[in-house]
Amino acid sequence: MKAFGTQAAEAPLKQLHIDRRAVTPKDVEIDILYCGVCHSDLHTARNDWGGTIYPAVPGHEIVGRVTAVGSEVTKFKVGDIAAVGCLVDSCRECSSCKRDLEQYCIPGFTGTYNGKDKHLGTQTFGGYSEKVVVDEHFVLKVPANLDLAATAPLLCAGITTWSPLKHWNVGKDSKVAVVGLGGLGHMAIKLAKALGAHVTLFSRSPGKEQDALDLGADQVIISTDKSQMSSVTGKFDLIIDTVPYIHDVNHYIPSLSINGTIVLVGYLGPLDPMLNSVPMILGRKSVAGSVIGGIAETQEMLDFCGEHNIVSEIEMIKMQDINEAYERMLKSDVRYRFVIDMASLKG
Ligand code: NAP
Ligand code: ZN
Ligand code: ZN
Repeated sequence: MKAFGTQAAEAPLKQLHIDRRAVTPKDVEIDILYCGVCHSDLHTARNDWGGTIYPAVPGHEIVGRVTAVGSEVTKFKVGDIAAVGCLVDSCRECSSCKRDLEQYCIPGFTGTYNGKDKHLGTQTFGGYSEKVVVDEHFVLKVPANLDLAATAPLLCAGITTWSPLKHWNVGKDSKVAVVGLGGLGHMAIKLAKALGAHVTLFSRSPGKEQDALDLGADQVIISTDKSQMSSVTGKFDLIIDTVPYIHDVNHYIPSLSINGTIVLVGYLGPLDPMLNSVPMILGRKSVAGSVIGGIAETQEMLDFCGEHNIVSEIEMIKMQDINEAYERMLKSDVRYRFVIDMASLKG
């Protein structure tokens, strides 16, 4: 089938051909209607984290229509709307999988792209393609009231911010801050607000303030402004840091309350400058990390979004515009998620 991907870290994405496995008894085949563009797609295409297998076909914010189901499938039938996020398989047996934490599968989950397809033994290919074949356990249901294109980003940006909000029990009296107003950041604001929290955005980008307030933030702090930063000393129970590249995490620690946690979901790798333990010890503060969310939790987030009418703010693009979209993402010029209209690949 047709797909869009890249053969090397330095090469632009272009149209190529991929094979998918035939539908097995537990599989659902989905004709992809929309696919969101996550910064992880860019990191993978350009081998920022190492370990990219080429050709690489990114895309893990998938919404589409079921075109075939295996003989043992019970959750879906042909014609249903279905969604797929960042994971398409896991061991199903380890202590994490048994607790619905497939994202922390001990032998490792199978990523929607750049993972290893257990059936074929080859790498997995993501949603920048015509169709996808996924075990029904990893396929999600989309609430009927939500716009399909704007729902796609919930499958990664939504769940990645929902999971820490839930894990750290964010609710009515919580004070939450979000670092970076991009795809993850804008969903973090919407979800934290809907959970009842007081929400602050830390941004380097003057000019995004009004957008942040419109998305539900109560306050915006320009993180490069010393007096604005000191105005929030000791304030936040939880900070979700979505910055994709190396940055000084120590900068945000003073704004945590006693027992507060900053959870890193963006940058993956050693920190520079290193973390200073003094404020952690003297304020019982935590620095944590979190990756996406489990399947049950992803369904819970989608259902919550259905009840609260929450979707992503999107800019629709054609598949052929993906290289330009990546360049704009690198300049933080996305308001606030690109979504590919997959009809552009099929046409
Ligand atoms: P994005 O749309 O590009 O947004 C990132 C935002 O971070 C930017 O809009 C910008 O906000 C800020 N930023 C960018 N570069 C920065 C820098 N050098 N220093 C400080 N701030 C910077 O990206 P995204 O799709 O939200 O993804 C964010 C990160 O999360 C990526 O690294 C992605 O791989 C990762 N991710 C992790 C998970 C997980 O499970 N943990 C899941 C999905 C994505 P301002 O303009 O407001 O400063
Ligand atoms: Zn993602
Ligand atoms: Zn497992």
